[in-house]
Amino acid sequence: MRSNSSSSTTPTDAVGKTETFAELLARVQACTVCAAHLPHPPRPILRVSPTARLLIVGQAPGRRVHETGIPWNDASGDTLRQWLGITRETFYDVSRIALAPAGLCYPGTVKGSDLPPRPECAPLWHPPLRAAMPDIRLTLLIGAYAQAYYLGKRRGRTLADTVAAWRDFAPDYFPLPHPSPRNRLWLKRNPWFEQEVLPALRERVGTALAAGDNEAVHP
Ligand code: SF4
Repeated sequence: MRSNSSSSTTPTDAVGKTETFAELLARVQACTVCAAHLPHPPRPILRVSPTARLLIVGQAPGRRVHETGIPWNDASGDTLRQWLGITRETFYDVSRIALAPAGLCYPGTVKGSDLPPRPECAPLWHPPLRAAMPDIRLTLLIGAYAQAYYLGKRRGRTLADTVAAWRDFAPDYFPLPHPSPRNRLWLKRNPWFEQEVLPALRERVGTALAAGDNEAVHP
């Protein structure tokens, strides 16, 4: 977990006192709320900073990410960067892009498939993290769990319905399928995604990242 600032303040913590960004991160890092349900001791994996403009909300760390501590450092991440039209360097520039999945710790697997993110996690940590990142212009919701938490009943009947209706969630959110190699069939069955949605996504991401370049630096 990284932050490029320790002096910014967030609105309040759970007991209502003002806390710094670093203090909030320390609370996240120390979280053991669902430890009894995890296969390993909790290891929240996220990259956030108070100046981030784009927030990417995925599902939950897989085993490799849990072991390395680097989110999206895999084939899914390569595809995601290609979708977004950005380099690894930009993707991992925590001053501009925040990475925080719906479940921050590796939830384990069952029969070779990753378990869903722990349901306690997003309601517990996303509100304070978002409040501590006031410059977020756009939030990418990757996969059904991120969409369920952020869009609730506004979601479509299927993930394809939700993604196809991406305009309905602008300007704050952009729903996407998971870029996992396991989703190649979905992409093949839904060619409109690459043809119509990706160009719009790249434009929105470029605008979000460019926003603020000519503005005063956030205090
Ligand atoms: S998954 Fe979330 S709620 Fe559970 S221990 Fe990790 S940080 Fe805490």
